[in-house]
Amino acid sequence: MEEQNKPNNRLTTPHFNFNWMFAIIAIVLIALYFADGGQSVEKEVSYTKFQTYVANGYVSKVVTYSDNTLELYITSNHVKDVFGPDSNKVGHVAMLTTHVPSSDAVTTFLQQQRITRHFAGEESYAEKKDYLTAILWQILPILFFVGIWFFFMKRMGNGAGGGGSVFNVGKSKAQLFDKNGQQIKTTFKDVAGLASAKQEVEEIVEFLREPQKYTELGGKIPKGALLVGPPGTGKTLLAKAVAGEAAVPFFSLSGSDFVEMFVGVGASRVRDLFKQAKEKSPCIIFIDEIDAVGRARGKNPSMGGNDERENTLNQLLTEMDGFGTNSGIIVLAATNRMDILDKALLRAGRFDRQIHVDLPDLNERKEIFEVHLRPVKIDESVDVDLLARQTPGFSGADIANVCNEAALIAARHYKSFVEKQDFLDAVDRIVGGLEKKTKIMTVDERRTIALHEAGHASISWLLEHASPLIKVTIVPRGQALGAAWYLPEERQITTKNQMLDEICSLLGGRAAEELFTGQISSGAMNDLERVTKQVYGMIAYMGMSKELPNLCYYSNEDYSFNKPYSEKTAETIDAAARDLIAEQYERAKKLLTENKEKHNQLAGLLIEKEVIMAEDVEKIFGKRPWHSRSEEIMEESASKEKKEADNTKAGIDEAQEKKDTADTTTEENEK
Ligand code: ATP
Repeated sequence: MEEQNKPNNRLTTPHFNFNWMFAIIAIVLIALYFADGGQSVEKEVSYTKFQTYVANGYVSKVVTYSDNTLELYITSNHVKDVFGPDSNKVGHVAMLTTHVPSSDAVTTFLQQQRITRHFAGEESYAEKKDYLTAILWQILPILFFVGIWFFFMKRMGNGAGGGGSVFNVGKSKAQLFDKNGQQIKTTFKDVAGLASAKQEVEEIVEFLREPQKYTELGGKIPKGALLVGPPGTGKTLLAKAVAGEAAVPFFSLSGSDFVEMFVGVGASRVRDLFKQAKEKSPCIIFIDEIDAVGRARGKNPSMGGNDERENTLNQLLTEMDGFGTNSGIIVLAATNRMDILDKALLRAGRFDRQIHVDLPDLNERKEIFEVHLRPVKIDESVDVDLLARQTPGFSGADIANVCNEAALIAARHYKSFVEKQDFLDAVDRIVGGLEKKTKIMTVDERRTIALHEAGHASISWLLEHASPLIKVTIVPRGQALGAAWYLPEERQITTKNQMLDEICSLLGGRAAEELFTGQISSGAMNDLERVTKQVYGMIAYMGMSKELPNLCYYSNEDYSFNKPYSEKTAETIDAAARDLIAEQYERAKKLLTENKEKHNQLAGLLIEKEVIMAEDVEKIFGKRPWHSRSEEIMEESASKEKKEADNTKAGIDEAQEKKDTADTTTEENEK
C-alpha cells in the first residue's frame, strides 16, 4: 500500500496526561520514605553542652562514631528541658549530635559519670554511617521498579497507538480522512479497469451523498460491501478512491489493528470505532484484510472458549447490526479469503454486497498499463497492446511493478527513454527471476537442460490444449536453469482435456531427458511438484478421475486435522494420481519419440542460440493446426503491427521519392 496519502490527523480526544500521575506517585513514595525518619528534630550541640546534659542525667544512650561524632539520646522526661518550645516537634526519637575530641575521652568521661551515678544508659561505638549510600541503597530498588513500570506502560501505550498511554489501549486505531484533515488524492481515474466493481463502489458514495434519492422510494442504504479478490488486484486502491471521491469522512484501518495482547481490547476498539463513526455520520469505515478478525468462529484449535478474536468478531457483528440502516455508516472491507470468513459476517444486513475484484483481462491490463505508464518516460517503440498481451495472469500490482522495473532497467543502461525491450525484460524478470548468465555449467548439463526445455516446447506445440509457447531459454534465471514462456488461455473454466494436455507438456521435460540422455535429473522437480498438485486437485477436488468420479473433498476449514475421507479412499486417490501421471508421462514419451528429429533439432538450436522464439519452433514443427483465442489475438495484433510498419515504410518511401524528385528538380534548376 502506498504511504504517501497517510494523514496525520489521527483520532485523538483531549485527555489528562497520565505521565504526571506516575510522577506524583513516585514523589509520594520517596516522600513517604523520608517521612519515616523525619519525625526527629536534629540538633547539633557543643561538647561542653553534651557533658552538661550527661551530668544532669538527661541522657539515656550514647553512640560514638569512628569519625569522632557522637549521638546522644535524651530521656523522654527531659525532652522539654533540652528542646524547650521545639519539644513537640521532636517525635519519638529525641536525639542530638556533637563532635568529641576522641572516643577515649568520651569513654573516660562516661565512666566517671557512671561512678557518680549521673549516667546509667547504654554506651556504644560504631563505624561512621554513610547516609548518602544508605539512602541510595534504599531508594535505588524503588527507582528501578518505578522505571520498569514506566517502560512497560509506555510500550503498552504505544502499542495501543495514538494516545501513547496504556489507558488508550482500547481506543480505535482508525485513521480519519475528511475535508478538515489531510485528504486522499486517489480518485476513480487512478483505478483502471474493474468497471463493474467501480460502478458498485461509486454507488456507495452516491448513497451517502444523496440518501433521500433512495430512501424516498423505500430503499434502504446498504450497511456494508465486501471487496473480494486475489492479492494485488486493486481492492485497497478502490477503497482509497472511494475515500478520495466521497465527500464524507472516511475511517481506514486494518483487521489486525483490532488485535492486541490484552483480552477484551479488540471488542473495545470495535465499540470505539463505531462510536466515533456515529459522531461523524454519514461516513465510511474501511477495514482492510478483514480476515484477521473475521475468520469463522469455533474453527481454531485453541481450546479456550473465550477466544479474543471471537469476542472481537462478535462485537463487530453486533455493531454492524446494531445501528439503524439509515444511520449513514457504510462498512467497506477487503479480503483475499472470503472462504474463511464467518457466515454471519457475510449475511445480508451486514455485508449486503460482495464486490468481486478479479485479475484483469486483456483490455483491463491495457488500461492499467496506461495508468502506470503516465509517469514513465517512454519512447514510441512501447506498444501497450503488446505489453497487455505479454502479461496474462498479472495482477494490477504486478503491472505496476513491470512499469517500475522497466524504468529501472532503462536507467541502468543510461537511456533517456524507457523502450519496448526494457518492458519485455522486466516481464521476463518478474516471471522468471534475474538472469544469471555467469552461472557455470558443463557442456553435458547445458545439453540436458536444452533437451528438457525443448521437450516442454515440443509437447506444448503438438498438443491442442497446451498453452501456446512464446519463448524458450536455457539461460538460468532465479532458481530455474532454463525456462519456457507460455501464453495461457484466459479462461473461466478449464476442461479435463485441457488439464491433461497441460500435465503432459509439463512432463515433457523429464520425458525428453529420459529418452535422449538415458538418465533422469533433478531439473524436473519443479515440474513434478506442479503436476502432482494439479493431479491431486483433479482427483480429490474436481472429481475428474475414473475411480472417484464426481466427488469433491475440498474443505475450507483452516485447522482440520482429519481428512474428509477414509484411509481406503486416500489409497484410491494415491493410486489414481499415480496412474494418471504415468499415463500422461507415457503420452509425452510417445509424442517425443514420434517427433524425435524435430525435438533434437530444437534442442540443438537452443544450445546454439540460448533463446528461441515461437517463430523458430514454427519453422521446425510447422504451423500449429489449432488456434486458441489468445493466439488469434496475438496474430491479429501482429498483422496490425505489420500493417502499421508497412504503412510507415510506404510513407517513408513516398517521402524519400518526393525528396528524390525534389533533389532532381533542384539539380535541374541549378543546371
Ligand atoms: P491485497 O489483497 O494484497 O492487499 P489489494 O487488492 O488490496 O491487494 P492494492 O493494494 O489495491 O491491492 O494494489 C496494489 C497496487 O497495484 C496499487 O497500489 C496499484 O499501484 C496497483 N493496482 C492494482 N490494481 C490496479 C488497477 N485496477 N488500476 C491501477 N493500479 C492498480
